[in-house]
Amino acid sequence: MNLLSVLVQTPIHSQVAGPLSYFSERSIAAGTMVRVPLGKRDLLGVIWDRPSAESAARPEAEISADKLRPIAGEIEGIAPLSVAWRQLVTFTADYYQRSLGEVALAALPPQLRELTALQVARRIKRYAKPVDPASALSNAAAASLPLTAEQQLVINQFHSADGPFLLFGATGSGKTEVYLQIVERLLAGDASAQALVMVPEINLTPQLESRFRARFDDLFGAGAVVCLHSGMTPAQRLKSWLAAHSGVARIVLGTRMAIFASLPALRLIIVDEEHDPSYKSQEGARYSARDLAVYRARLEGVKVLLGSATPSLETWHHSRSVAEGGRYVRLQMPSRIGQHASLPLVRRVDMNHQPKKCVIAPPLLEAIAERVARGEQSLVFLNRRGYAPVLHCADCDWKSECPHCSAYRVFHKIDRTLRCHHCGYTERVPRACPACGNPDIAPMGRGTERLEEHLAELLADVRRPNSISAQWPTGEPVRIARIDADSTRLKGELESQLARVHAGDVDVLVGTQMIAKGHDFRRITLVAAINPDGALFSSDFRAAERLFGLLMQAGGRAGRDADISAQSEMWLQTFHPQHPLFEALKRHDYPAFAARQLQEREQAAMPPFSFQALVRAEARTQEVAQGFLAVASRGASAVPDAAQLNRLITLYPPVPMSIQRVANVERSQMLIESPSRTALQNFLSAWQGVLHTTRQGPHGRGLIRWAIDVDPLLI
Ligand code: ADP
Ligand code: ZN
Ligand code: ZN
Repeated sequence: MNLLSVLVQTPIHSQVAGPLSYFSERSIAAGTMVRVPLGKRDLLGVIWDRPSAESAARPEAEISADKLRPIAGEIEGIAPLSVAWRQLVTFTADYYQRSLGEVALAALPPQLRELTALQVARRIKRYAKPVDPASALSNAAAASLPLTAEQQLVINQFHSADGPFLLFGATGSGKTEVYLQIVERLLAGDASAQALVMVPEINLTPQLESRFRARFDDLFGAGAVVCLHSGMTPAQRLKSWLAAHSGVARIVLGTRMAIFASLPALRLIIVDEEHDPSYKSQEGARYSARDLAVYRARLEGVKVLLGSATPSLETWHHSRSVAEGGRYVRLQMPSRIGQHASLPLVRRVDMNHQPKKCVIAPPLLEAIAERVARGEQSLVFLNRRGYAPVLHCADCDWKSECPHCSAYRVFHKIDRTLRCHHCGYTERVPRACPACGNPDIAPMGRGTERLEEHLAELLADVRRPNSISAQWPTGEPVRIARIDADSTRLKGELESQLARVHAGDVDVLVGTQMIAKGHDFRRITLVAAINPDGALFSSDFRAAERLFGLLMQAGGRAGRDADISAQSEMWLQTFHPQHPLFEALKRHDYPAFAARQLQEREQAAMPPFSFQALVRAEARTQEVAQGFLAVASRGASAVPDAAQLNRLITLYPPVPMSIQRVANVERSQMLIESPSRTALQNFLSAWQGVLHTTRQGPHGRGLIRWAIDVDPLLI
């Protein structure tokens, strides 16, 4: 009889952090996927390495031999998960303080459990296609663009060092082409090699996918490129997963979840827009796929390339010179491609000198109208969807608060609802003020929906040039479109809206930051940020970094078409035109912005000069949530090595989260900080036990849940 350790999806925060014990008649290799009984259910499990006696850091639940159950069976026809994959899961669980079972099983398609060997074989064979390496190589050379000098230099540098690499390249500098050619060379030179290419958002995968398919389908066979992201159906995800795991897929394109793809011949990882906050998971194991990419690359001895025009300050700091202690190789492509494609001219509109309450300053409006008249496109963005952030009664000062959250509900005019963007609570707009009966309640502030309406009014008399049409003999009216989470709720809506923009059927595109990211719009020559000031004085120390990145990205949407010779412009409406952030933006000077930010962070001992973790607790009352954290915090002095850790660990008092109440749940958090990553890790691992015990005790009563967030992005 063989004793087996098996990982299953254990309930979150059950005390079972490690594998469960089962037995089988024959010995089964670690990494093999199996079905095991748990209670009355039959679960997917992974055979895990049995801990050696002395290194058993996570003691397994002691199970007497008569309680031990046999596994239900193996998932046949699928090779075991590799040592490296298991190590990645182990590291993730340890580092982010979650259970092994949760991390491992979240990374596997659940449908694996039901597959028979025959079904597996059929699914894999369907798109396996032999490729002749010689013709692949010559075709590859034919398909790729002649490189610019900067691209060539970067690729040479990439091939002559080990990395990790940061590709610091302006928007439109041709980073994607660099990715394509690096991947191409790797795959053409090694018939089994696989590459993992990550993008921050599902929205950006179709665009990248079509670029990769156009380049590689002929070379390596249809099916060589697969996607992995959370927008896929379970069946699609299973298919991609099997293709990756069996080695049939050569390139996996995906969002953050793809970092856990099983890739037996992984040779390269690329993380595009590495600064994007979407790489950090905000639920379950709160991992950073970007950071795990660097870890995984080192673990598997492969190269990793992080790309961005506005790197995260962490990555930028890692890529300082070796003499200063840097560990990443910084590759630079400062120039945009194309003869007219200079970076946009940044214009600041001082809102102190504009008419009171004006939403679009007259000079900006004029500039937009000019573009329309020339047949060019403008992109106008605002950080708030909906029609107006609140409805307001001028008589009694009632505002459309959400009854379940400490937040206002947003007025959506299109379906006349008040909608909470935190808990989703939706109601029809009341006919009169619910507090005093005043029928005259009015929207206050502005969202994208209202901005779209407003722009339509302002531009009503502007005509675009056209072929003479009977309907509009003097030119057609302006065509305005809006892209935000509301206008793209239905499947396919975003794609069709983007297609309209690409086809030139839209003159002015209004939207949230969703439209500022990554899209390769062709005819946009003006980008305007309507109200970017909010982030300048935020309590979140990362707000400035995010704003700078967003504005640079947004500016990067302008002037991408080399056929349009007009100077592209980026307009900023601000009450603080002299702010250093905007000064740096005007010069497109990310390094200056980063240097200043890093200096401030160093003085304040903030990341990347310190390491943080948050513990969040949720309960019906703040008292219970904060009480739980306070008791656990006091218990920290009891963890092993407490004396030594005390010098290196700072525990801050529990405080309410900035949105304190969501869906009637009170939320509170406490910050833990350390100058040493290792010390923080050791402390958290040791302290976990205290949190679990506190949860079980009297101070855990009424607690709904708690979770640790290591390297939190939002504080
Ligand atoms: P980035 O990802 O840095 O924003 P892209 O890779 O999307 O930039 O490139 C911007 C544009 O320049 C794309 O239209 C791309 O096809 C084009 N491009 C990239 N490299 C070259 C090249 N070597 N020669 C000509 N055009 C190129
Ligand atoms: Zn009122
Ligand atoms: Zn709500």
